[in-house]
Amino acid sequence: MTDISKPQLMHFYDEESAELALAIVKYAMERIKMDPPPLDKPYTLSELNSIVGQTIKPEGRNGLDVLREFADELAPSCISVDHPLFLSFVPGAPTESSVLFDLVVAASNIYAGSWLEGAGAVYAENQAIQWIIDLAKMPAGSGGVFVAGGTAGNLSALLAARWRWRDRSRGSMDKTRPLIIASGGSHSSVEQATKVMDADVLKVPADERGRTSGAATAKFISSLSRQDKKRVCAIVATSGTTNVGVVDDLEGMAQQAQALNTWFHVDGAYGAAALCAPSVRHLFNGIEHADSLIVDPHKWLFGPYDSCALIYRNPEEARNAHTQHAEYLDVLQQPEHRDEAWNPADLAHHLSRRARGLPFWFSLAMHGTDAYRDAMEVTLDVTRKGAELIRNSEHLELVLEPELSVLVFRRSGWSPAQYQLWSDRILSKGIAFVVPSSWQGETVLRFCIVNPRTTVEGIAQIIDTLK
Ligand SMILES: *Cc1c(COP(=O)(O)O)cnc(C)c1O
Repeated sequence: MTDISKPQLMHFYDEESAELALAIVKYAMERIKMDPPPLDKPYTLSELNSIVGQTIKPEGRNGLDVLREFADELAPSCISVDHPLFLSFVPGAPTESSVLFDLVVAASNIYAGSWLEGAGAVYAENQAIQWIIDLAKMPAGSGGVFVAGGTAGNLSALLAARWRWRDRSRGSMDKTRPLIIASGGSHSSVEQATKVMDADVLKVPADERGRTSGAATAKFISSLSRQDKKRVCAIVATSGTTNVGVVDDLEGMAQQAQALNTWFHVDGAYGAAALCAPSVRHLFNGIEHADSLIVDPHKWLFGPYDSCALIYRNPEEARNAHTQHAEYLDVLQQPEHRDEAWNPADLAHHLSRRARGLPFWFSLAMHGTDAYRDAMEVTLDVTRKGAELIRNSEHLELVLEPELSVLVFRRSGWSPAQYQLWSDRILSKGIAFVVPSSWQGETVLRFCIVNPRTTVEGIAQIIDTLK
């Protein structure tokens, strides 16, 4: 029977809560202190069923016991993305300060969808966004919002692009399927966005290094029919392809977008973080022409999940596409809440949102932007030295010279099955997490280096296991 005479069944703070709070903070401190953390590996469902079993019960359980269960049984079944030799996919390496501040964000539970409710948090997030705007040399008036990830960022940007394309056509395109032209190395999330939008996507062939040029884009566009040219609502460039880490010819692709009078979106989810690194900044020339740009702090900007900075050249275009109207929300659209105020909810496909940009903001404010520049150069330097090790080792061959922080190479004479066996072995031994990828149809190995704790010695250790 529910005892409704006790109004605070769960919402209370007592001695037990204080004990739990200390235990949680202690756990967080210990996890952050680990250098390196254990690599860990996923258990199978049946293993988890037998180790953990049913965790949720009608009568509830002691919080300390549940925490222990997480620490001892569930967490070890999650690979540590911040392990210095987690080099698969795109790892994450949040700063200690960003992770600690995430605890503050959680405890505050700020609603960061509107200025009315979250002004202070939104103000701080916007300064972090402004740092990226300045690095990209986008014009004054540019602005943005933190969304959950690059997939959400790409979709929201392309929805704004579609809105502008339809708006400019004054009704003549209202029943026409939009067409998106994407670079050859574009991420799967761009194709996914076009599925959501019921749009078509065509990819411009990339060169032998995986880079898409302005000339190739021009040639591709000239092969389209007149009707298809009219259907183009955006050109998407990739500034740092995920698989091999090369940056498209942003200047050239921007020119093509301008010639077609269409939206220019730059997907920098992984690579645009390196805008802050002087040694590679030139690769991004032309990014300043973007109508929209994304970069994930949870990838190479040392922030925790989940966070993607989505930036618009003209935020008003995004508001047109994304603002939700409802009786109970329209107070937010009154001039005093809208004009100089900033409602992040209006800039993407979402409404309620956590202040997910704050951990990144806190770390930037605490360490300063110079530390970001230096940490970025460290990862780039380790990548270049790793390339040198691969070049000099007899059993390996570098497939591509690195531009950013991805190394792609082959182990001479190995079959796909041998790559997989090796990958499984070094994970189960807790040495490293490196999964095979492919390049032009060939199984290859790929290191993605975004963690300043990844060392050349660590890379050498992995290379040793490939003999
Ligand atoms: C990772 C990535 C994405 C997707 O980002 P998520 O945060 O995983 O949703 C999109 N584009 C590029 C280039 C990426 O590397």
